[in-house]
Amino acid sequence: MVTHDVAIVGGGCVGCSVAKSLAEQSSLDIAVLEKEYHLAEHQSGRNSGVLHPGFNYEPGSLKAQFSTEGTRRMKEYARANDIPLDECGVVVVAQSDEEEARLETLKAQADENGVETEILHGEEQIKQYEPHAVGHAALHCPEAASIDSQKYVYTLASDAEDSGVDFYMGYAVEQLRRRRDGYLIETNKGRLEADYVVNAAGLYADTLAHDVGVGEEYQVVPFRGEYYELTPERRDLCESMIYPTPDPSLPFLGVHYTRRTDDKVIVGPNAVLAFGREAYRNTNFDVGELVETLGYEGFWKLLGSPKMMQVAWDELRKSYRKEAFVDAARRLVPDARSSDFRRSYAGIRAQVVRDDGQLVKDPVFERGPDSLHVLNAVSPGLTSSLPFGDFLADEVLNDLGEAET
Ligand SMILES: Cc1cc2nc3c(=O)[nH]c(=O)nc-3n(C[C@H](O)[C@H](O)[C@H](O)COP(=O)(O)OP(=O)(O)OC[C@H]3O[C@@H](n4cnc5c(N)ncnc54)[C@H](O)[C@@H]3O)c2cc1C
Repeated sequence: MVTHDVAIVGGGCVGCSVAKSLAEQSSLDIAVLEKEYHLAEHQSGRNSGVLHPGFNYEPGSLKAQFSTEGTRRMKEYARANDIPLDECGVVVVAQSDEEEARLETLKAQADENGVETEILHGEEQIKQYEPHAVGHAALHCPEAASIDSQKYVYTLASDAEDSGVDFYMGYAVEQLRRRRDGYLIETNKGRLEADYVVNAAGLYADTLAHDVGVGEEYQVVPFRGEYYELTPERRDLCESMIYPTPDPSLPFLGVHYTRRTDDKVIVGPNAVLAFGREAYRNTNFDVGELVETLGYEGFWKLLGSPKMMQVAWDELRKSYRKEAFVDAARRLVPDARSSDFRRSYAGIRAQVVRDDGQLVKDPVFERGPDSLHVLNAVSPGLTSSLPFGDFLADEVLNDLGEAET
């Protein structure tokens, strides 16, 4: 039977970043097991591709620290490795006095987190950056950028491979079985052994963690984020990125415009309950997984508040009625017309909900016996992935008592 010191489950940006960091810091024998035949098939390749520096996150939090450092490091990494990157900046638009006041909070957070931003007052100033965006005021952050997330993950993997990591593609981990030390890993292609397991399985991280009695108070509730894109002749409606002012009481950013590195302008995502962890279309169902979500008490407690019910209903309408989606998008850019939008791809967030109905906003990582489980690598998980990978690798090395080489 093949044996490794460390087996990492999941070939997304988190798994590949941990693999690269561990391999570069130690002489451990490391493997990455990925159920698909391609890397970044799920969240890491189906996102907005935005590098979010930490103006949106509470000063001192891990999210603020990782996203700010992550933005800078990913830009350097992209430049050094020819990964498509567009350092276009973002404009966060306020459309009411209340939102304008919130921009001041974002600016104060940005200052504390060491992120450069400026407040744009009135339409004239906004139009210098985004001629078609409409609002009372805006926050401009020149550090925000757009990156090719799939190419990024492949580059991480190639660096990891160069440092000796073995990639097992098409290996779906079906069960983790505890041995006296380490694990027997049951896969669709037979068994492997590892002294230590890092669970970075994204949408299925909770099920693997529950296998070994970890994180039982959490469950992934899959929220699909659907995108439209502007038709090529109307891409000039957005020069860089246009975001609404975030509502701190809501878990997800509202529908926004992002100019990608391939020059497409994507609009979205919404946030609608997915009827399966990989149900990428609103007509896809996985009955077993849907029953699992509907049978979860945390899900019903989450939906218990009238505000969340209203949000869920609004998001559902945006999924099934193009006009509802377009209305949300036109709040930011009224010049856009329905015929300017066509359906694009979707991604699904591995959003963790606790038994008490709390939707967890911060990354969660929990230790099990000889294992580390990444349970809530939510946005800005892509942006944060380099420092987060280093952080997790240090945890593994500490657990294994390995000195850095
Ligand atoms: C719609 C959307 C938009 C987003 N936009 C942004 C953004 O603009 N900026 C940003 O910073 N972040 C963004 N994010 C968040 C970011 O994409 C995620 O935080 C990040 O990709 C999580 O990476 P991951 O490696 O944990 O998960 P994943 O990329 O999902 O990787 C997990 C991997 O594990 C594999 N796997 C699962 N189960 C098994 C098993 N049993 N055996 C073997 N392999 C298994 C899967 O196939 C998958 O490849 C967005 C996310 C979504 C969904």
